[in-house]
Amino acid sequence: MKATLVIENIQNLITLKGENKPRIGEKQKEIGLIENGIVAVKDNEIIYVGEGELPENIEVDKYTVIISGKGKTVTPGFIDSHTHLVHGGSRENELSMKLEGKAYLDILKAGGGIHSTTKATTEASFDELYKKAEKSLNTMLSLGITTVESKSGYGIGNFDTEIKQLEVARKLNENHVVDIISTFLGAHAIPQEYKEDTDKFVDILIKNMIPEIADKKLAKFCDVFCEEGVFTINQSRKILNTAKKYGLMPKIHADEIVSLGGAELAAEVGCISADHLIGASDTGMKDMAKKGVIAVLLPGTSFNLQKGTAANARKMIGLNVPVAISTDYNPGSCPSENLQLMMTLAALTLKMTPEEIITGVTMNAAASLGIEDKVGSLEAGKKADISMFDIPNLAYLVYHFGINHTDTVIKNGDVVYKKS
Ligand SMILES: [Zn+2]
Repeated sequence: MKATLVIENIQNLITLKGENKPRIGEKQKEIGLIENGIVAVKDNEIIYVGEGELPENIEVDKYTVIISGKGKTVTPGFIDSHTHLVHGGSRENELSMKLEGKAYLDILKAGGGIHSTTKATTEASFDELYKKAEKSLNTMLSLGITTVESKSGYGIGNFDTEIKQLEVARKLNENHVVDIISTFLGAHAIPQEYKEDTDKFVDILIKNMIPEIADKKLAKFCDVFCEEGVFTINQSRKILNTAKKYGLMPKIHADEIVSLGGAELAAEVGCISADHLIGASDTGMKDMAKKGVIAVLLPGTSFNLQKGTAANARKMIGLNVPVAISTDYNPGSCPSENLQLMMTLAALTLKMTPEEIITGVTMNAAASLGIEDKVGSLEAGKKADISMFDIPNLAYLVYHFGINHTDTVIKNGDVVYKKS
């Protein structure tokens, strides 16, 4: 077999080899490290991963792209499994209000908060949203990210805006080299006009929006913001069970601030992931472990909210809950596409080890999107999504923070980013 691309002499090759399933407990630390590693790719597929030289049955010729991995660390392409990629506007004007100690409700009253993003997203044209999200995707790619989950959710009752966001994501997925997987988050906040009758809005979601999103095949997942003052446990259950009926896999923003029982609900409904989980109860975590629900933790958000709280990753890993790490990139609570920075925050604020963290942005992130059979590890037969970093070892990436360590990114077997 002839290789189209080979990365040789790799100082640290992090393969994550093993079963294509979420890694739990002690296994979250097993990263399949090979020193002096080599990877061969044919077209868009990995055909060999090992140590030293290529075996005899794999040939190279003058057309084979040869990349030196000397002094470098190579990993599966990173997967950002929780983002609000497509949105209008930005909210830097809220920073000074925040620093002055103004409460979020005051910021909302001053025209800020989620409603300002809703307005900006609704007013933006398709092309404006597309260009803004494309710019973010380019940034993500340069940071070693090859797959991104993208949520709608800034319509807040305006269904046209929700559809516009999902259609932008669909077009980006067709045109941009980064893979995008869409989530319908129609249940992101209660629209102003339904504040007094929230069940009425849930009814609209269930009877109109979810069936249409499923019919138009605009999303793979359906998500709900289950939180005090947003959607209750009962409402979230209704929404997610309806989504399941229509073939959308359930996800949930759970227990971000208050311990409502979102983690328990995630297990009961059979969510593929429960995200945030700062207030998750012990029972909820145990239920998640039993059902294999993946905890998607978002340390950039807890850091940016400055409440001094963070998800209890150590307890989750101890209870065999698979943990993934994502950016939660959004204009309000985490305006950053930098997953490498989130990896540092996962170490410093969630006390996760570099090995657990790399699993959290590769195999466990892949599993939280249901794509673990295609990406998330480097093994023969998998898609050739590979990131190479200019770092002597994995811990260095987490330790030396705030800069981009990416050297080269390979997507579908092609070099698509190279540090200049
Ligand atoms: Zn979110």
